[in-house]
Amino acid sequence: MEDRVKHTYRTNLYEFVKDVLVVCPNCAGKAVVHTGEFHTMQHDRNAVKLVCPACGFNKVLEGIGHRQDKKQKRGTILKFGAPIDPFFHLPVWLQADFSGEILWAYNLEHLEFLAQHVGAKLRERNGFAFNVRSIGARLPRWMTAAHNREAVLKAIDKLRDDKGG
Ligand SMILES: [Zn+2]
Repeated sequence: MEDRVKHTYRTNLYEFVKDVLVVCPNCAGKAVVHTGEFHTMQHDRNAVKLVCPACGFNKVLEGIGHRQDKKQKRGTILKFGAPIDPFFHLPVWLQADFSGEILWAYNLEHLEFLAQHVGAKLRERNGFAFNVRSIGARLPRWMTAAHNREAVLKAIDKLRDDKGG
């Protein structure tokens, strides 16, 4: 059962790895990591590309993939579940401090998902039947804690207003 939950969580997180908004390493503006069809797991090594519309910086990721061979020195280690893009490990653009925790999302779609989920928890508390599954069950406790939810929703709104444009 635990394995199934983990698997579902991973699958869902991958779904949000489409275009990831990141801080440009060159100008600190808003850059995008284009991931091609990564979320369908049919990525190829030239599909992942960092592009900054503000300064023109761009970079293609080389050697993508999980390390198959332990002796393999090359290759990118993909990191998920942290406020960095999984490929270049740059800080995500959409992040904000929340009482010492980091509220973050890969992109606006992901941010919207978080808002909906935290909102759903609120509705659930108010008597709505709402099936909370998969990724939701793995959100950090501070995000879904009853006493935090309304403040988290406000923080998500603010993040969207500040950086979503
Ligand atoms: Zn730039």
